[in-house]
Amino acid sequence: MQKEELTNIINLLSTPRKIVITAHTNPDGDAIGSGLAMYGYLQKKGHDVMFMIPDPDPEFLHWMPFHSLIMVYRDQQELCLEAIKKAEVIFCLDYNSLGRLGRAEEPVRNSNAAKILIDHHRDPAPDFDYILSIIETSSTSELVYDFISACGDAEMIDQDIAACIYAGIITDTGSFSYSCNYEKTYLITADLYRKGIDGEHIHRHVYDTYSEGRLRLLGYSISEKLVVLKEYHTAYIYLSKEDLDRFNYQVGDTEDIVNYGLSVAGINLAALFTERDGVVRISLRSKGNFSVNDIARKYFNGGGHVNAAGANSTISLEETVRIFVEMLPDYKEKLTSVY
Ligand code: 5GP
Ligand code: MN
Repeated sequence: MQKEELTNIINLLSTPRKIVITAHTNPDGDAIGSGLAMYGYLQKKGHDVMFMIPDPDPEFLHWMPFHSLIMVYRDQQELCLEAIKKAEVIFCLDYNSLGRLGRAEEPVRNSNAAKILIDHHRDPAPDFDYILSIIETSSTSELVYDFISACGDAEMIDQDIAACIYAGIITDTGSFSYSCNYEKTYLITADLYRKGIDGEHIHRHVYDTYSEGRLRLLGYSISEKLVVLKEYHTAYIYLSKEDLDRFNYQVGDTEDIVNYGLSVAGINLAALFTERDGVVRISLRSKGNFSVNDIARKYFNGGGHVNAAGANSTISLEETVRIFVEMLPDYKEKLTSVY
């Protein structure tokens, strides 16, 4: 980790502080895993801590240790505003610009607290006082493990904190299938097992807890809504609000659907478009050196990583899909020569 930043942060945390941990909108396993691991650690260190997320997280993450202590800005706005106002330190985990806080952006931006970023997305915005940003890593959860260790507190990582870190690593790597070509990820994972986690149990919590509606929505998406454009090595799925309502959509139900497009041989770019209230959510995935981060930024004002990116579109579902399909010819060569 960046040494100078770290020394300053350790000094800052050398006395008990009022701390708010924040994660991005539509929080995923890494956002919640890194946030809860940090929550467990800072609380053990004697700080006064709150973990705040802008809007609710999917149910398959609710088993996690400390989860009941999370505050949702959408639902507990006054409590959150009060905590942000009093905060001396704000941790910003798993996002690289305050814009990713959605409805909670303004109060955090206006706060005088020292803002500490721990993240693995490219090009962090100048929104933070301290930046611990490493792109070549599996997840922010792995960086939280590094952070705690660099603070000299590796032994404070107990089974509960370890379970949160593990959940973040498996969800951000598709259970060790991408963003995980690093020896260190496995050394850390081994240490998490040494701390007593039950990896099989965690997998069942995260992956074997679909509702019937979620499983049927997945089947329907692949069977009825998948469009394969072989010429452009691209596959996409689009789901209207009616589609989602038909399967009693709950937060998190469309997570992972985008990955199935990529499982087709020869497909290097996969997209999922879902129509929510007022916005179209875009999820992009790719293989090898084809960057969906570039596409998310250039066409949809979003971002992410080389192989996984996302964005929101405020135009209609049809228009959004049209923009996506119309840009494909410009990328035909790149999409044909992915390695
Ligand atoms: P997902 O498709 O799973 O929602 O997101 C994939 C990746 O892209 C995640 O790492 C996430 O942090 C990033 N991402 C998703 N949505 C957005 C967005 O609206 N803006 C930016 N900058 N990044 C996003
Ligand atoms: Mn992440």
